[in-house]
Amino acid sequence: MSSTQPAQTTPRRYQLFIDGQFVDAESGKTFKSPNPATGETFAEVAEADKADVDKAVAAARKAFEGKWSKMSARDRGRLLYKLSQLIEEHAGELATLETMDNGKPIKESTYIDLPGVVENFEYFAGWSTKIEGETIPVPGQMFNYTLREPVGVCGQIIPWNFPLLMAAWKLAPALAAGNTVVLKPAEQTPVTAVELGKLIAEAGFPEGVVNIIPGFGETAGAALASHPGIDKIAFTGSTEIGKVIAKAAAENLTKVSLELGGKAPNVIFADADLDQAVNGAMMGIFFNQGQVCCAGSRLFVEAKVKDEFLARFKEKADKIKVGDPMDKATLMGPQVSMEQLNKIKSYVAIAREEGATVFSGGASPELEGAFQNGYFFQPTIFSEVDNTMRVAQEEIFGPVTSVITFDNDDDLLRQANETMYGLSAGIWTRDITRAHRFAKAVKAGVVWINTYNMFNAASPFGGYKQSGYGREMGKHALELYTQVKSVWVDLSGKPIGWFGK
Ligand code: NAP
Ligand code: MG
Repeated sequence: MSSTQPAQTTPRRYQLFIDGQFVDAESGKTFKSPNPATGETFAEVAEADKADVDKAVAAARKAFEGKWSKMSARDRGRLLYKLSQLIEEHAGELATLETMDNGKPIKESTYIDLPGVVENFEYFAGWSTKIEGETIPVPGQMFNYTLREPVGVCGQIIPWNFPLLMAAWKLAPALAAGNTVVLKPAEQTPVTAVELGKLIAEAGFPEGVVNIIPGFGETAGAALASHPGIDKIAFTGSTEIGKVIAKAAAENLTKVSLELGGKAPNVIFADADLDQAVNGAMMGIFFNQGQVCCAGSRLFVEAKVKDEFLARFKEKADKIKVGDPMDKATLMGPQVSMEQLNKIKSYVAIAREEGATVFSGGASPELEGAFQNGYFFQPTIFSEVDNTMRVAQEEIFGPVTSVITFDNDDDLLRQANETMYGLSAGIWTRDITRAHRFAKAVKAGVVWINTYNMFNAASPFGGYKQSGYGREMGKHALELYTQVKSVWVDLSGKPIGWFGK
């Protein structure tokens, strides 16, 4: 394999972004972020902990009470739009850094992540001037109206699977609505968030409006979630940590929104266009190395087409080019970390113990040179899976799908909903009645019919059941970042009569 990884001798260095300044951590500590394709240190990053969280929250509070709340909605929108343009100008460089830090193929960071980031800032820039209250038709000589106001200082904790895109999903609506933010990126992928800080400064956001504090979940993340100085916490990550966040927030009754894990059913009916369905199954599970919360990791296939479908699916899966993520032809890079790789391997063993068949893949590919130390894994298909098995119920977060068969619509629906998760679902069929019946009955926040992994900044995304609460993107995201104030005015000019004249 030819290497297109840029040669790197010394790690890139990154600081925290607090109150408009790039600063070291109070403790002076740093941590290393490896390049998952080679295991080599890609960046050395300042490690925030409680002291830095305190500083960042104080800066965000000062900005919220000061310049930011005095700025007109139009100017806020212009800043967001300026930021979207700066990101677009730097898209090539940011995509490369994302791939080096996360391992995702450059094709994905270039054509999916970065355009999505630009789109989100652009979309919410437009919302800044369109956040309105209402007048309410109350009885009597009363005038009642609502003001839709920002929530205040928002803590935002994001995962490593779409580092910059998750930062955009969180920051754009929060800022459009007039909040200030302390953002903690994941320890595995801190780089592009701090790069974004540079563009935020360049765009001219007042200092303290956005603060970016790389660090670990148990220290920086926990300090942020439990901080009495924040008004809202937004989290994307595992259901397990989502519960930790909700408990920490409960202490101060901090508002919470959670976008958590999934185990999405992706359903193939015999009447589907099988070529489309095979591609849809691939998109559902191999995109981003399967590190997607809405991954179609339970692949329900109607029994009568199982053999034909599996043969075609395996043939295509085996041809996926796994390797150097900087190679434009690569479709799957490494998993984000050794920890994730080991987790995936452990599920292959679990599948075998449970009596499932490893129909395809199931191991790391043999690669050459520096990539031998990368965290790569083959596209993997488990067949003969029962929906009650652990591999069908637990989020693996890798390029690993469990094929489960079903006989009819009722059998399918029952199984599809037998999961603690409810983030997304997909269905492949030519029967529109069946498709819409499924869309209505499946307990999931997003449903894809004859497509998969479709997103747009204007369309809401979020989970049912233990996949979380709150909806990101679209106008629904503004509900997370605003609160409603009801104002009453007496127009009668008379004293309240209740206690006598
Ligand atoms: P995670 O622990 O849920 O991490 C998500 C974010 O939460 C990271 O920024 C993390 O910080 C932070 N965090 C961790 N512990 C925290 C705490 N006690 N208080 C506050 N913040 C905390 O996810 P992970 O460990 O990276 O991955 C584990 C599994 O989670 C994956 O295998 C996958 O199943 C699932 N996952 C789901 C999503 C999703 O989009 N739904 C994304 C990522 C992972 P650090 O990373 O710095 O520790
Ligand atoms: Mg990294």
